Parts: sequence; structure tokens; C-alpha cells
Amino acid sequence: MDTLNVIKSLAESLGADYFGIADLTEARNFILMQGGPEIAQYPTGVTMGIALLDPLVELLPDRGKNGGGALYRHHAYDVVNAALDQIALQVANRIQREGYRALPVAASRRTDEARICGPFSHKLAAHLAGLGWIGRSCLLITPDHGPRVRWVTVLTDAPLAATGSPMKSRCGNCTECVTACPVQAFTGRVFDENEPREARFDAPACDHFFREEEKRTGIAVCGMCLWACPFGRVKQK
Ligand code: SF4
Ligand code: SF4
Repeated sequence: MDTLNVIKSLAESLGADYFGIADLTEARNFILMQGGPEIAQYPTGVTMGIALLDPLVELLPDRGKNGGGALYRHHAYDVVNAALDQIALQVANRIQREGYRALPVAASRRTDEARICGPFSHKLAAHLAGLGWIGRSCLLITPDHGPRVRWVTVLTDAPLAATGSPMKSRCGNCTECVTACPVQAFTGRVFDENEPREARFDAPACDHFFREEEKRTGIAVCGMCLWACPFGRVKQK
């Protein structure tokens, strides 16, 4: 088996529902600004995702009741992110054994408090690999699971061909996520790679709401923008 099929099979055997290869070269300036030269040196991203369990997501509107928020936080953040980090580690090890450089980027780890972001955008890699589009919620929206997917990326110099190209937005006239946000963090503008995130999303407002929820309930959970998206909800009906 070639390297692509080896790591794809490995990722899927470890529980990845989504797998793709992103050509990062055209986004290099953006990646450099976010993560610096160590991160931006890699031309390719191996993007992998795990779909969230629908019954967990359905807890979100009543997350303040009956321990729903804690259950969601445990499985949909902690357990899924740990599983993604394990998949990324194993895939990176495998790529290194094939003779190439590979750097796993943690599934969910904020490294820049001022800009409220990590060192690399997993959504960007999944978008470039053709697995979905960036919605009005600034989340990566997949046709099958909507935004109900968590992502991880392995950066590499292995010669892997891109599995797709960026998907065009299918949000249309929908504004469900904009309406669902309790702090009106979204402006409703569709994704435009030439505009900064601030044109669409007030990240400090979202972050502040999480901190307030944590003080109020002991659990930092919201996710109403994720819950509301019709692309995640259709198949449940
Ligand atoms: S997580 Fe909640 S507060 Fe943050 S943007 Fe989504 S809906 Fe708004
Ligand atoms: S809720 Fe509607 S507008 Fe928001 S990301 Fe999903 S499809 Fe797009």
C-alpha cells in the first residue's frame, strides 16, 4: 500500500469518520501569521475528523439541566479531542517511519489568548481538503454531519496529493446559527477568505459567554451555533 492508503486505513481503524489531504501552500501567509514559521513550513495537512454523537449534541439547548452540559463537555470535548490526538500521533508516527517529517497539531488547544485561537486552523485544512465549507458560524460545515464534527491535523512534507478543493458555501439564505447565538457573536456575513475573522465573528463575545456560563453553572459549554445548523439536523428527522 502507498503512504496515503496506509495512513487513511490507520486513521479509519482508529475511529476517524473523515479523512482528507489539504494542499496548504496557497494559504501559507495566513498560516504563517497564525502559527509562525515552524507551523507554516509544511506544505501538506492530513485532516481527520470524528463526528459527534447526535444524542450528545441534542443535550445542548437544555445543557443547564440534569447534568447535560457536563455530559456534553466530557464526551464531545474531552473524550473526542483525546481520541483525535491519539489518531494524529499514530498517523504522524507512521509518516515519520515512511521517511518524512510530520507534526501533529493538538485537536483543541488555545495557544494565543489575545487572538483566541490555536497555532493552526483545523477548519482551514478540512476546507482545503474538500470536506466542507466555512459557514456563517465560522464552523466547518460538512454535507452529512453539518458542524457536528471535531477535527485534528498532521502537518507534513510527505508527497501526498490533495483529496479535493475548497467546497463552496451551501448556507444560502439560512441564518439559524446567527439567530441561535445568545450573545449575537455572528454578523451573518458569509465566509470570505479575504476578510478577517472579525468581519464575521466576535470571538471575545463568545469567549466571555463561556466564562460566564462556567461561573454560573460550573461548566463552560454553549455550542448553540453547532446545534442549530440544519445540515447536522436533517438526518435525525
Ligand atoms: S458557542 Fe455559543 S456563544 Fe459562542 S458563537 Fe456559538 S452560539 Fe454564540
Ligand atoms: S446554521 Fe445555516 S447559516 Fe449557519 S452555518 Fe449552518 S447552514 Fe450556514
